[in-house]
Amino acid sequence: MSAATQRAGWSRLPLRAAAFVVLTCATILGVSAWREWAARDAVLRGAETEMANVARSLTQHAEDSLDLLDSGVVGVVSRLEMDGTEPATIAKLKNLLEARKKAMERVHSLAIIDDHGNSLTAPGTIGSTFSDDAFFRQHQLSPKREPHFGRPVKSLIDGEWVVTLSRRFNKLDGSFGGVVLATISSRYLAHFYEQFEIGRNSSVALTHGDGLIVARNPSNDKFVGRSVADAPLFRDPSLQRPSGAYHFKSPLDGAERVSFFKRSTRYPLVMLATVDRDELLAPWRAAAISRMLYVLALVMLIAIIGAVMVRQLQRGQRMAAALVEKEAHFRLLAEGSSDMVTRIGLDERLRYVSPSSVRVVGWRANQLIGTPALTGIHAEDLPQVQALVDAMKRGEKEEARVTYRNSHRQKGEVWLESTMRVTRKDNGRVDGVVAISRDITEQKKLETKLETLAIEDGLTGLANRRRFDERLNEEWARAYRDRSSLALLMIDVDRFKAYNDEYGHPAGDACLRVVAQVIAAEVQRPGDLAARYGGEEFAMLLPNTDAAGCARIGERIRKAIRGAGLVHTSNHASGYVTASLGGAACRPALERTAGVGTLVEAADQALYAAKEGGRDRLMMSVPVANLLPKAVGQ
Ligand code: GH3
Ligand code: MG
Ligand code: MG
Repeated sequence: MSAATQRAGWSRLPLRAAAFVVLTCATILGVSAWREWAARDAVLRGAETEMANVARSLTQHAEDSLDLLDSGVVGVVSRLEMDGTEPATIAKLKNLLEARKKAMERVHSLAIIDDHGNSLTAPGTIGSTFSDDAFFRQHQLSPKREPHFGRPVKSLIDGEWVVTLSRRFNKLDGSFGGVVLATISSRYLAHFYEQFEIGRNSSVALTHGDGLIVARNPSNDKFVGRSVADAPLFRDPSLQRPSGAYHFKSPLDGAERVSFFKRSTRYPLVMLATVDRDELLAPWRAAAISRMLYVLALVMLIAIIGAVMVRQLQRGQRMAAALVEKEAHFRLLAEGSSDMVTRIGLDERLRYVSPSSVRVVGWRANQLIGTPALTGIHAEDLPQVQALVDAMKRGEKEEARVTYRNSHRQKGEVWLESTMRVTRKDNGRVDGVVAISRDITEQKKLETKLETLAIEDGLTGLANRRRFDERLNEEWARAYRDRSSLALLMIDVDRFKAYNDEYGHPAGDACLRVVAQVIAAEVQRPGDLAARYGGEEFAMLLPNTDAAGCARIGERIRKAIRGAGLVHTSNHASGYVTASLGGAACRPALERTAGVGTLVEAADQALYAAKEGGRDRLMMSVPVANLLPKAVGQ
């Protein structure tokens, strides 16, 4: 996978995560809403079932009541047809009817009406002729013996709303004899309906087939006799079924209603049990709201956690991208640098090596990665480098700079200078060292050369005066500490001015070089130092040497110069180049008041004495103590 594709994949990740969170929230909300809707539906279905049961049993009740009424009416009809309508018969029947009426609460009235429409059971009742009533005319005109169920009417007896059930009875000759009429009070039915607790805003209504309300609970008095014939239940063809659920908006209060209707199969009656939908759904609504609040809280929690996670993901990505960029910068710098950049792990093996390793140590980066980092270091320098690396690994040192010799694949040995720095993990623990190493061999050579120039005499290659003075002071201090003896020889070429005059200055220089070589050849111990003191004057510093040793070496030098056989005709005594030497020895610890100058002075005086004495000779100084001012300590 390319870096660009990977980065594109990364940047899409928070988007995908956000989409996932949104989808989860939407799913939870959707499923919850669906479940609530299903619960609401179940409540409505349950109410329909309940209403269906109520409607069915009340229809049954109405039919049973009418059947009961009818059986009474049938009994009276048969008695009348057998016994006729003589007053005595009527009187007997009247008693029977009164008794039956008392026995059956639902019977509002039982009446016998003659063929003219006059009540035989209650003669003289106000407006007591039924000749114009629909049921009477029906029976009068039709020979049918079936019961007639009439529309609700107001009772002529007490003004109450009643429903009528009537049958025709015939005279002996088969002609119309009259009508037996029985009524059920609307109030009785309404009272009966009160027993059914179906809710505050609910109602039960028995309606005549043509839409007139027969009985209703509650508010029977208000509704009985009203027509609802224009309601869909009576007009809508789809509702002209024997029974069914029926949802409608109340024309009275505009509230939504859930109801169930049942049409009687035997009487033109429709039973309608209705419940207020808002009231019905109120408990569900309260529970659903609280459940949905929980769900909303959960969804919000998920959304918040999701948002936080998405932000962290974005931040993580930004950090990762920054890290990649940083790494790229590091590589650019490391790989573009002429210095060798290496990363050393805690196991001291190379984890990263920049390409310039080829130039610095002669090995390619892939040949070095995984190998021990300190392998090529010169054995003498290794302890110093190892100690630094150890200190850095322990966290005692943050950075260090070290110069050491290292093997180079082609060049043999090179000088390297490494700047090392500790690297740490996020938790602050050291996890390695980064070293930037450069080849300083040329610089080192230059330094050595400069050092040499600073201490060497250009003409003779011996130590120069500066170096001599330094060493003299050092050796004096050492001899003082060690209570040892320090000796000094001063060597001066004899009649050298004349040599120059005779052979020329360049020849003089060549002569001085030879003399210097002769003197250098006499240096036997590492601590001895031969130096050009100035002009044609040399000095030899001899640590740990007493006067006798000094004299011995001095004499050897004198002989060697003379033995070199450099012709010097103006040096009449021998005809060769010779030198005069003055020697002095001293134990600084014993001659406390003496200083470096005393020793030089003593040797100088001895030299002077040698010159005075005829040249080409060595003179030793008197003991240095004797040269010191008498006043001091003696
Ligand atoms: P003496 O025996 O008393 O030492 O006599 P001398 O001539 O050696 O003494 P003097 O100190 O008078 O002369 C020293 C001469 O050494 C003077 C100078 O020209 C010469 N000289 C000093 N330094 C150099 C040098 O570097 N090269 C050459 N060619 N001559 C030098
Ligand atoms: Mg001189
Ligand atoms: Mg001289």
